[in-house]
Amino acid sequence: MPLIIHTIPAFQDNYLWLFHLSGERAAFVVDPGDALPVLKCLEQHDLELAGILITHHHPDHTGGIKALLTQYDVPVYGPDSANIPQITQQLGEGDNITLAGTNFSVLEIPGHTLDHIAYHAAPNGGNPLVFCGDTLFSAGCGRLFEGSPQQMYQSLQKLAALPDATQIYCAHEYTLSNLAFATAVEPDSQALKEKIVADTQKREQGLPTIPTTLGIERETNPFLRCHLPPVAQAATQHGARQLQSPIEVLQEIRLWKDNF
Ligand code: ZN
Ligand code: FE
Repeated sequence: MPLIIHTIPAFQDNYLWLFHLSGERAAFVVDPGDALPVLKCLEQHDLELAGILITHHHPDHTGGIKALLTQYDVPVYGPDSANIPQITQQLGEGDNITLAGTNFSVLEIPGHTLDHIAYHAAPNGGNPLVFCGDTLFSAGCGRLFEGSPQQMYQSLQKLAALPDATQIYCAHEYTLSNLAFATAVEPDSQALKEKIVADTQKREQGLPTIPTTLGIERETNPFLRCHLPPVAQAATQHGARQLQSPIEVLQEIRLWKDNF
């Protein structure tokens, strides 16, 4: 049975993800910042909410939990975080949960927030996938609100260790603006030019650019390429200082992006 994943746009540019096994009504929502679009999606596809998964504490990922729980008495999976009192099943690195017939393993990926986790699965007969919240975006990464550049670097490396075919289900549609920045870092990249054409077309048709794949991100996402000479050179030039490590490169391009 394939895993079906519905894309639920919310707010300005958030994506909430609702997944279930084909032919089964039990559905699980990832990061319900808003309840209403989730309830609509459940109704539209004749599904029943069976659980809630949370990646980190920000309101655009958690704001709908309360309203969903008034209609569905379901477990709430998420990090061990004082900021998310509704969580009933606290998860940490290496924990496994089986939802919709699919085994998910938990990765701790601090940086954007300290409590940030991701859910990784390799479903039978399907591509591996990861729900990674606001840590890895298509062509970008989350802002460093709580963690250090070193923590973000290690978290991104952890995600980058997944197979190339891994489908990246991140929580925001930031792709085109991220690609503009990535092009400032690597102006000569053919892979970036191709991705801009493909993703611009999708946006013009009102389609999401997400999920992306790890293989594509490895080729185009500057935050996964801090160890490579073109990215290191661009960062050095922009910061006008010698950078000693890929972590310092990440720190520099994150700062650059914050003001881009
Ligand atoms: Zn966030
Ligand atoms: Fe967010």
